[in-house]
Amino acid sequence: MLDTILHAVGRTPLVKLHRVTAGLAPTIAAKVEAMNPGGSTKDRVAVAMIADAEKAGRLRPGGTIIEATAGNTGVGLAMAAAVKGYRCIFVLPDKMSAEKVSLLKAYGAEVVITATNVPPDHPDSYNGVADRLAREIPGAWRPNQFTNLSNPEIHYRTTGPEIWEQTDGRVTHVVGGVGTGGTLSGVGKYLKERNPDVKMIGADPEGSILSGGAPHGWKVEGIGEDFVPKTFNSQLVDDWVRVGDAESFHTAREVARREGILVGGSCGTALAAALRYARRLTASDLVVVLCPDTGRNYLSKVYDDAWLAANGLEWLPEARHTVGDLL
Ligand code: PMP
Repeated sequence: MLDTILHAVGRTPLVKLHRVTAGLAPTIAAKVEAMNPGGSTKDRVAVAMIADAEKAGRLRPGGTIIEATAGNTGVGLAMAAAVKGYRCIFVLPDKMSAEKVSLLKAYGAEVVITATNVPPDHPDSYNGVADRLAREIPGAWRPNQFTNLSNPEIHYRTTGPEIWEQTDGRVTHVVGGVGTGGTLSGVGKYLKERNPDVKMIGADPEGSILSGGAPHGWKVEGIGEDFVPKTFNSQLVDDWVRVGDAESFHTAREVARREGILVGGSCGTALAAALRYARRLTASDLVVVLCPDTGRNYLSKVYDDAWLAANGLEWLPEARHTVGDLL
């Protein structure tokens, strides 16, 4: 018996993919972070940031947690706050799914929505609004997942070792998107310490500056940035693959339909990147794809044909045999 739900965070399954990878030489496996109790990889980060803040005396009983989050970190924080009795306020940009907002509220959190199309340093940006609330509310603590080094650290201490153990040290490549960069940086640091030949591949939405492209908007949630976060060690990334919204979403749909794993859009980006990258690999390679969250967060977007069509991202599965046909 576990003491609390927070003790169920981590130790997520690594699942071999079979059908979407047909015709490719390497083994490709998905790290299914949706199996965390709050439904995403961010449960790890939320629990770690709170534990470290408590130890440092920055978060005290009766305190308020205020975070600017794409949703998943918020769910992790809200879940942990429910267990530990903290108040939570979350500030989200307006492109976030309605399901994510409802989830936060279901855990008892308060949600403030801000406009997406303001510069990141503007007082009305989601970071600006969160900063102001933190100044105004007594006992407030801002985890700030974009600067808090507990974020990459927990992936170094848990996600990285899990991947090493689950592959018996045979992992050769890890592919994942970068939001805060915590996952890729922590996992990359650990795995490269164990084996310097392990390659970290960044999967970046078209429009994100991280992979060096021209900045413009994109629809995949949780990954890609218009700045380089402090929590991201770009030196650990050996190669980048840039993926458009349509390919990301269609790949997520294929994974649900052909592998029975209901993943979010950012996993679609990572898997699309992995499928493309795998063409240059061999049968001795073992590619781990980081799948940050569940498709249940996106039933009204990625998994809704009308939404895809309205955004010029139509999915026509009958016309295709494998994801490889898209590439
Ligand atoms: N995908 C989703 C859906 C996310 O919410 C996040 C976190 N922003 C990521 C990917 C990226 O993870 P990280 O912040 O560790 O780079």
